Amino acid sequence: MKTPLTLFAGLSLAFGLMCSSPPAFAATVLTGDKIDGVPVIEKLDLADQPTGRVSRYYFRVIDQAIGQGWYVPVIVVKGAEPGRRLLLTAAVHGDELNGIAIIQDLTNALNPAQMKGAVVALPGLNIPGLLQDSRGFSPSATTTGVNLNRQMPGDVNSGDVGRIYAGRLWSQIFAGNADAAVDLHAQSRGTAYPMYVFAETPAARAMAKALGPDMIKYDPGERGSIETTLNANGVDAVTLELGEPDRFDAVLVARAQSGIRNVMREMGIIASPAESPSVKPYIGNRTVDVVAPRGGFARVLTPVGSEVKLDQPVATISDPFGLITYTARAPMAGRALSVATSPVREAGSLLVRILAWSDDPACAAKGCP
Ligand SMILES: [Zn+2]
Repeated sequence: MKTPLTLFAGLSLAFGLMCSSPPAFAATVLTGDKIDGVPVIEKLDLADQPTGRVSRYYFRVIDQAIGQGWYVPVIVVKGAEPGRRLLLTAAVHGDELNGIAIIQDLTNALNPAQMKGAVVALPGLNIPGLLQDSRGFSPSATTTGVNLNRQMPGDVNSGDVGRIYAGRLWSQIFAGNADAAVDLHAQSRGTAYPMYVFAETPAARAMAKALGPDMIKYDPGERGSIETTLNANGVDAVTLELGEPDRFDAVLVARAQSGIRNVMREMGIIASPAESPSVKPYIGNRTVDVVAPRGGFARVLTPVGSEVKLDQPVATISDPFGLITYTARAPMAGRALSVATSPVREAGSLLVRILAWSDDPACAAKGCP
């Protein structure tokens, strides 16, 4: 099916060149290049993708500063029959790797001949970050640590390379190709989450419950994130956090696949019996960070997911001799949502994040501001 697509893309480009205005229809655009035998695309349009099969592409996002490309892998699993479309994205933060294994394993196990609708999956958005084992986006020495998950929907005409990169992902791949989305993350280096979902809207909350996480936060969203920008553009989206960075956690990878298949069932994409989550999620709408007021060696006293009582000691800080210099206490009751995994803690860094439910009307609708 590659040749007809190439021809179609070529015809559409030719049509666009012949006309003074761009063509009214979108279309997948293949550049004609291949990398390791995989076709390179300039734009994805799910509508013209072959049905009942898996297609794999490299999307040339932008040029590097040395004139070669940054390429993001794109997997399209399009069912034999039409239906709803699920977008999966991983590693917009380059050291948060669990989502890559989830997308790889999930898409390789799907049978498109038995699907209605499609999955568009990008197992690795932040290619410079992946290469550098870095959360941020630093495509060259002059650009350091842009948070790509605050740049959406980007701007291809911007003077900022992070906004251009985000804008290309948004306009050429995300836009028009999804009805719902799960953006896969992990906690930042030195800290851990359980399986945890941020959910902004009623539809996103239903998706969050189908995913079967340990915890859900009703949340007002983060401006410029993939999740918040998709929700604002009519695509039901959640951010799914999975454990720690820098690893493939086999248990969390398997749980997330099971949860995503449940989302696909609710969307009518697959029809196999639902998989019951092993846990009932704790739902909150408010978080408080307990941070180290001074540097030192931290010992966390509350494991991820454990119940925390008001004023309970949650961590100690010690000096180099092991003498405790500070005991951190819980400023509110709830559950330990995130904990420090590295004992080396700078002043101001996270010890424990507590998730709780607040009846404050300002928090009830969309999560506490
Ligand atoms: Zn992240």
